[in-house]
Amino acid sequence: MADKIKFAFLLAGGCAGCEMALVDLSENLLDALEHIEVVFWAPTVADVKYKDLEAMADKSIDLAFVDGMVRLSEHEHMVRVLRAKSKILVAFGACASLGGIPGMANIHTNDELFKQAYKDTFSTENPDGVYPQPQYFLDGKYDLTLPAFQDKVRTIQDLVEVDYYVGGCPPHHSFVAKAVEAIVTGNLPPKGSWLTSGKAVCDVCKRNPANEELERLPVETVKRTVDGMPEEKGCLLQHGFVCLGPITQGDCGASCLNVNMPCRGCGGPIPGIKDYGARAVSAIGSILGSEAATDSLLEKFPVLSKLVYRYSLPASRLKSNVR
Ligand code: SF4
Ligand code: SF4
Ligand code: SF4
Repeated sequence: MADKIKFAFLLAGGCAGCEMALVDLSENLLDALEHIEVVFWAPTVADVKYKDLEAMADKSIDLAFVDGMVRLSEHEHMVRVLRAKSKILVAFGACASLGGIPGMANIHTNDELFKQAYKDTFSTENPDGVYPQPQYFLDGKYDLTLPAFQDKVRTIQDLVEVDYYVGGCPPHHSFVAKAVEAIVTGNLPPKGSWLTSGKAVCDVCKRNPANEELERLPVETVKRTVDGMPEEKGCLLQHGFVCLGPITQGDCGASCLNVNMPCRGCGGPIPGIKDYGARAVSAIGSILGSEAATDSLLEKFPVLSKLVYRYSLPASRLKSNVR
């Protein structure tokens, strides 16, 4: 058998849900392990330390995945180290490729974030406003340090060259299997591409009106899912729920629609879209049938950026401080 592919996985600033997506491959993961040797998987799975990665020779890892965004000096350092050690680097999941949900923090200043997290939350008692510091001398002699909290959330490609992107929060396990197979067999698109079927969520959604040769009609009232249970049949966009399926990669197989929820856009932009949020505004605007419909959108979603940039603010042209 040919040499196994040396594989590494690094969690930067994420929840590790993307790593669960790989573990969710279940028996397919066992098949993949016949071709893959895991040389580093931290800090979640393998008993390895950052210094083990730092000690590896440059380009000695064949394939590396990163999940999570970059917020701490620790994330930045380790992403740069992993890039130097790896031949192929994949930004895996919405946080790594677009900034993800943690990227919505870029709407706020660091002072606002710290005040909210360490002082104002209902369950916090911190009358003196004590906040974490990157350095502290305990008893005047022990130098204790924490990774520095940087100015804003950044994506992996803000720091280093990324070879491939995979969308999803987390990536759907059925698509992960296809992505891993493409990598193992070398059946890959040009570097810098998304590993995707290229289809939109609408293309794979069984609610698509086009399946029944129906036209899309203008929407008169916008609803949120908290306003009532979405109908079990028919296009949710047509029913007034903001569904971002038309502009989102559908490698999940329209998972949310299959359980009666609108698409929120975690799969990332379909090919050709440069700024997901800007296209989302355009797509939503194009189906609103009247001024009253626009008013109801803004009433239901007063901070529109949290709807249209839910997964992608750090990768947008605006990048931060959109209110
Ligand atoms: S993309 Fe989603 S699942 Fe993956 S690390 Fe980020 S928040 Fe977690
Ligand atoms: S807009 Fe949403 S519900 Fe309608 S077809 Fe597209 S993915 Fe399905
Ligand atoms: S339907 Fe949309 S939000 Fe749901 S998993 Fe698929 S891409 Fe993500």
